[in-house]
Formats: sequence, C-alpha cells, structure tokens
Amino acid sequence: MVIKMAVVGCPFEMSPMYEGERIRKDDLYVELAGPKSKGFEIVRSAEMNEIEDGKVTLIGPDLKEMEEGSNYPYAMIYRIAGEQVEPDIESIVERRNHDFQNYIQGYMHLNQRYDIWVRVSKEMVSKGLESLKQIAEATMMMFKNELPFIEKIEATFITDMTEVEKELEEARKVYDARDTRTRDLHDEDVDTFYGCTLCQSFAPTNVCVVTPDRVSLCGAINWFDGRAAAKVDPEGPQFPIEKGEVIDELGGEYSGVNEAAVRLSGGMFDRIRIHSFFEYPHTSCGCFEVVGFYMPEVDAIGWVDRDFKGTAPNGLPFSTMAGQTGGGKQVVGFLGIGINYFRSPKFLQADGGWKKVVWMPKALKDKVVESIPDEIRDAIATEEDAADIESLKSFLQEKKHPIVDTWAAEEAEEEKAAPDVAPAEAQAMGGMPTLAPMQMPAMSLTGGAGGGLKIILSNAKITVDKIIVKKKE
Ligand code: ZN
Repeated sequence: MVIKMAVVGCPFEMSPMYEGERIRKDDLYVELAGPKSKGFEIVRSAEMNEIEDGKVTLIGPDLKEMEEGSNYPYAMIYRIAGEQVEPDIESIVERRNHDFQNYIQGYMHLNQRYDIWVRVSKEMVSKGLESLKQIAEATMMMFKNELPFIEKIEATFITDMTEVEKELEEARKVYDARDTRTRDLHDEDVDTFYGCTLCQSFAPTNVCVVTPDRVSLCGAINWFDGRAAAKVDPEGPQFPIEKGEVIDELGGEYSGVNEAAVRLSGGMFDRIRIHSFFEYPHTSCGCFEVVGFYMPEVDAIGWVDRDFKGTAPNGLPFSTMAGQTGGGKQVVGFLGIGINYFRSPKFLQADGGWKKVVWMPKALKDKVVESIPDEIRDAIATEEDAADIESLKSFLQEKKHPIVDTWAAEEAEEEKAAPDVAPAEAQAMGGMPTLAPMQMPAMSLTGGAGGGLKIILSNAKITVDKIIVKKKE
C-alpha cells in the first residue's frame, strides 16, 4: 500500500515501508516531545454533534517557525465520534497513532502515551513539509481509512510548553482511570484473553497476551481495551485468545495461550507463562515501558524504566538492556513489561512476586509504591541507595530484604549437600562420587577427621571421566 497524499498538496508519501525508518541526529530538523522535552498523545471519544470532522487546531509554533536542530514539546489530542465509538475504544485507537504516523515519510514516532518521541527529517522539510497540520491531516485520514467505525475525527496539536503541561495533567487522569479499571477483574474471572500483533511489524515473533492481570508491554492496552477492539474491528490487530485448559495457575500457563504462541510466533515459541520471569516468560517486543533484569550476584530482579537516564546496578542503562531484550523473543534473565503490571496481584507470582525485586529507579518506585507490600517497600533499593552490586548487597542486608534469607538458606543447603565423609571412606562405601557431567551452582567439600581439604566451586561445570582417590600410607 502506498498512499500518495492528496491532502493540501502534501509533499510526503505514506506507506508501511517507512515504518522502520530511523531519523538520526544529523538528519533531523526538529525533535518533538521525547526525553529532552514533554509530550503525549491521547484519543477521546465524543458525541457526533461535538465534532467538526477533519478540523485541526495547532497551539504553539508550527514547523516552519521552529529552530532547526531544537526540541519542542508536543501533544496530539484526537477526538473521535461514531455510532460504535465509546470510551472503551479510546486506548486502542490511540495506540494506532504510532503506526499510522510512522507510515509518514521523514517522520519518526516512538513509544506511546506520555512517552512519545517524534523526529522530523530535514529532507522532508526541504521537500516542502511545512506544517504539523499536514501531519495531523494525514494521520486522521489513516484513522478513518483503517478504522471505519470512526465517523468523525478532529485533532488539536500543541507545541507550547505551558499548554502541553496543562493538558498532560488532564491526560494523566485519563490514563490512570484506564489503568485502574482492571483492578477488580482477574485472569480466573474470564475465559478469554486478548492478543495483539501491533508490534509484529518490528518484532515478528512477538506474542502479546493481554489478560485482566497483565497489561500489554507498552502499557497502553488492557484487557477491556482488547475486548473493545476485537468487537469493533474483528479483522484488526487485537483478537480473542481462548484460555483453554489451565496448565499452571501460578505461572499463568494456559493451553489456549500456548497454541496462540505457536501460531503468532510462526512456531518459534510454544509455551508462555504469563506471570513468570524465569521460565517461558512472555516475549518482549521493544516498546515495553520497563525492563527487568536478573542479577545473579543477589539472585534477584531489578527494574529500569524508559525515563531513567542513569545506569542500573548491573552497570547498564535502559537503552542497552532494551536492545538486548527486544525483538519479540523470550529472553531469560530479561523481561519487558508495562508499568501497570507492577500493580497486578499476580505480578511475577511464579517467582515470588515482589519478594524477588531488589532495585528500581526512585521515580518508578514512587509511581507504584502503593502496590508494593508493606514488608518489602523500604527494602527495595533505588539509585539513591545503591549504584552497583556491592552497595546493593549491603543495602539489602541492612534492610533485611527477604531475598537475603534465601542466600543463607542456599548456603546452608550447599553445606548439607557436601559429603560429610573423607574421600577415601566414600570410596570404601561403594562408590566414586559421580561428578560428571553436571552443573553445580556452588559446592564445597570438607575433609573428614584427617582434615585439611576444602574445595569450593562456584558456578562450575565439571566433566570427569575417572577419579582415583588413594589412601595415604
Ligand atoms: Zn510492543
């Protein structure tokens, strides 16, 4: 599909082929919203008589008045109406702004909601793109073409900081209201989950499963949104997934989801445990709001969100970990999630939930602090408490984080597992200790009465064909 724009002599083409287009620093005319400024996108439903179809209002400087190479705030507010349009459908329409705008040549759109980040290329401006109104008109045309239930649409784009901030506050109330809707509905209350393939354009094997207890990774689509979308647009990117048999309640594994995983990933994955970090975790697309990372040194998980600019205790920033995690794979040790999943009562319940969490940026922790169990709240470190693994360890010990007890238990178990007899006696008792080939997290051998022998192997893999132990004459 290539749509040559007919709107007010637009100089650009729109096509899915521009979807993967990246605009680098050197090629950029201006950057809108993003990490150096503010912005958001939102779709609101309205009555038919409240909307003037096709109307665009721009508040603040337009493209041609902007200084090349600068950053500007950017809000995109769409209002839609139609017989089938209801508040339930807002999120799903809003999520499409991302792909429709990416069809625009010379225009790059990243993320969603309050995280949007847009770049406009120099090339398009030199070819005649001069107004954000052209962008709004093109996007609205896509909305109406692709989502025929939208009968009327109008847009307000804002590039004035004061106005953006004011409207962002209102938008946050709407996002919050959507996020709290699923609070009283749980996975066991429904027979149907919803799948979403929006991210498959760049993460072809991604299997996004949205359940009452797990919001989409991008944070923009909850179970109600999936249901509303599947209803108004049965051929669209959101569709029902029948749960089928419960395979594992705790991990959140269902036969219907596994079958959908095979279908959606082209056979790459056949098991997904919705509430697990370590075993058959949900795939990670790339637009997740937060990425989780396992730290073997403390046997626990840290989280870092898109807004955090520093490095996590493992020495890595969000961008690096996001790069390793994304692409629609099951990456053991990393997991992308939507912020609202922290508020789920089933949050990683297969792995002990919050008891396994030891670090998150302060701003993120503050956002979800209400959902953290009382006994853990103060024991989760932020960048103010721990910048690396060593300081994290001391913090956890000092705050008596429950993970610390598991370290002690593990050590005790290793002690117990170690043979309590001298090697020679072991031989006499009818056997060589068979060590090969096995993976040992940690092991210690302590010598018997004769003493003096202590071997500690940490994370060692040992292969042995034969061991000869001789008694000293
Ligand atoms: Zn995604």
